[in-house]
Amino acid sequence: MAATSQASISDCQVEEVTQLTDGIYRIQLRLLQPLVHRAGQYLELLLDEGEASPTAVPYTVASAPAALPLLELQIQDLGEGGLASRVIDTFKNQSQVQVRFPQGECYLDQAPQDPSQPIILIGAGTGFSQMKALIEHALAEQMPNPLHLYWGVREAEHLYGHELIEGWQQSHPNFYFHPVVSDPTGDDWSGRIGLVHESVMEDFPSLEQPLIYVCGSPAMVYAVEDDFRERGMGDGQMFSDVYSYAPRS
Ligand SMILES: Cc1cc2nc3c(=O)[nH]c(=O)nc-3n(C[C@H](O)[C@H](O)[C@H](O)COP(=O)(O)OP(=O)(O)OC[C@H]3O[C@@H](n4cnc5c(N)ncnc54)[C@H](O)[C@@H]3O)c2cc1C
Repeated sequence: MAATSQASISDCQVEEVTQLTDGIYRIQLRLLQPLVHRAGQYLELLLDEGEASPTAVPYTVASAPAALPLLELQIQDLGEGGLASRVIDTFKNQSQVQVRFPQGECYLDQAPQDPSQPIILIGAGTGFSQMKALIEHALAEQMPNPLHLYWGVREAEHLYGHELIEGWQQSHPNFYFHPVVSDPTGDDWSGRIGLVHESVMEDFPSLEQPLIYVCGSPAMVYAVEDDFRERGMGDGQMFSDVYSYAPRS
């Protein structure tokens, strides 16, 4: 059967559930139908799939298309018995799940025409997941553009994946990592402090040139857009899933 990029329902084998750091889990799935996706897209996990109207919970695919048929997810479960707790329990207790996949218009396919055009990737919390997929794809495709990952978290202990990021830094001179902590506690953090997009504006006084990908809450994404437009960002430069699932009213 030929692989399709049309959103379809597929069964997935649950291969691995690993705790990455406090409250953040990595889920490794194996797609059992021949579907393909673009870096940055998401799937919907179908809970209660036997029932008339299953609950569909969206999660960004943290791996690049080169990893297919494997799909990685990174899920935050604050342990408060919310929807995420139910999702993690499902992955721990079921060997197979159903997903609707692929979804979303926030992706990176090909290198921009101008090889000097910077690509700025801004992830808040587990928004890192989408940026990871985009970076892995850009590096695998040997895109020459400078790639700047700005990762904003509340506390330094919420940064994870150190080995992965160090690997990108060591093997790809066009990759730059900028972690930003908004509310550091004690003296465990000597790096940048504040809102993640403020660091972008410090580093890029003009935002007329870069392509910008942002993953975070709708309030965060729209605040970033407003500030960046004041720095010269034009239409078509910024990409986020928020534009389709939470359009500005
Ligand atoms: C397009 C889309 C992609 C999503 N991807 C993820 C994901 O990769 N990982 C994840 O943990 N949750 C993701 N979510 C949120 C997820 O669908 C559920 O809403 C969440 O797991 C429900 O958890 P909760 O009710 O316990 O807590 P909530 O308070 O609703 O959310 C818990 C955490 O989910 C994370 N989150 C929320 N939206 C996103 C997002 N767009 N991208 C990444 N993280 C987000 C944040 O870290 C938040 O602190 C996504 C939502 C959307 C609309």
